Formats: sequence, C-alpha cells, structure tokens
Amino acid sequence: MVGIRGAEDITLDYNFFKGLIRRICTMVVNNYRLMESGSGSSRYAKRVVEYMLTRHCAGGSRQHIIYDCHGNVIPCSFMPESMGLSSGTGGEPSERFDHVYSAVNHLFQSGLADRLKGKCGDCEYKSSCLGGCITMKIPSALSVEDEQPICMYRLIREVCEEFSEKERELLYLYWSSCFLKKSGGEDSDRVCVRRLPVWELNYRYDMNRESNKFTI
Ligand code: SF4
Repeated sequence: MVGIRGAEDITLDYNFFKGLIRRICTMVVNNYRLMESGSGSSRYAKRVVEYMLTRHCAGGSRQHIIYDCHGNVIPCSFMPESMGLSSGTGGEPSERFDHVYSAVNHLFQSGLADRLKGKCGDCEYKSSCLGGCITMKIPSALSVEDEQPICMYRLIREVCEEFSEKERELLYLYWSSCFLKKSGGEDSDRVCVRRLPVWELNYRYDMNRESNKFTI
C-alpha cells in the first residue's frame, strides 16, 4: 500500500499484506463458530470470492469517490492530491465530480486490458480487473498498464494454499456470504480491494460474547 494521504512516506509491501491476510484467515478459521457465515456449496463460494477479487478498481466511480472537508474531489482516500487526479476546489461541486469521473475513465479507457504488462498481461481476469487498484500503482510512479504490485487475487490464493482444504472451504463460505450481503451499488462491475470482506472479522450477532471467547 502506498500513497495514504498525509502519510506518503509509508510503504507497505506484498509481504506485509500477506502476513496481515494470513493472520485474519487464522482468526476466522479458529473462531469459525462465532463468525457470520453462509452455508451451501463451497465451489460456488469460491467462484464468488474469485469474482470479488478480480473486478475493476472502484476509485473515482459512483461507487467510491471522496469529497473531502476542503471541497476537493479525489478518486480515493489513498490517492495523494499531488497525483493530478483530484479536482481542486474551484467551480461547482458537480463539475469537480465530473472532472474526476472523466480523469479516471480516461485512465481505464478501452483497450487497457490488451496493454497490461507482466502478470496482469497474462492474467485470465485482465478484462474484468484491468490491473487492479490504481492507488497501488500511481503513487509509486507506476502506470496503469504496469503489473499490479499487490494483486489481491494472487495474494489470497497464495495464503489459502497454506490452509487445509476444509479450512479453505470455511474461508470461501465466510467471505462469499459477507460479500453477497453487502454488495450492490451503481457500478456493480467494480470493487475496492481495500473494502472487501477479506479484511473483516464479522461476528454472529446472536453469540453471547461472555461465554464465547474469541481466540486470537
Ligand atoms: S494479475 Fe493483474 S489483472 Fe490479474 S487479477 Fe491480479 S491485478 Fe487483476
């Protein structure tokens, strides 16, 4: 992760994300009885998880856009203003939103999938994903065509391989049920990888917290 506004010097790499996801997965598996989850086919759940991890970055769309306290419109809170994709504070708010929609649409213009490089260029999901999160790229001086440095699809697959088949099924069922409960929005082909249920620990609301202690 790079480019957190106000903390531009902080760089968190692939291994940092991998360690974090591994810890979250371990906590979900160890406490599965206490977690919200769905039932059903784990094969279907796995397809849902693959789908949610391989959609187009939502930054700067009607699904995910920032209007900050100064009136500046920015594609994403992880995008420093200096990256040239923010609106500034002049003009009408609607013009500022239009400016950002149009700047981001220009980045993802048609044909991008065919110009992606590295692993993204060879990826079977490149047409839906278009190379992942732009705030992992642009603040690091990468272009939208460059390989995604932190591909969530690859990262989740690698971490899941460290778990048993049964544990993987639990993870897929947990993530897919959380995702299906909250997905929606105008741009249903887009997703923000930082807001996915893979980062969440959702407890069952009907569990007694006193008699059911969570294991770290
Ligand atoms: S390799 Fe690139 S295109 Fe494929 S899922 Fe990962 S970020 Fe998306």
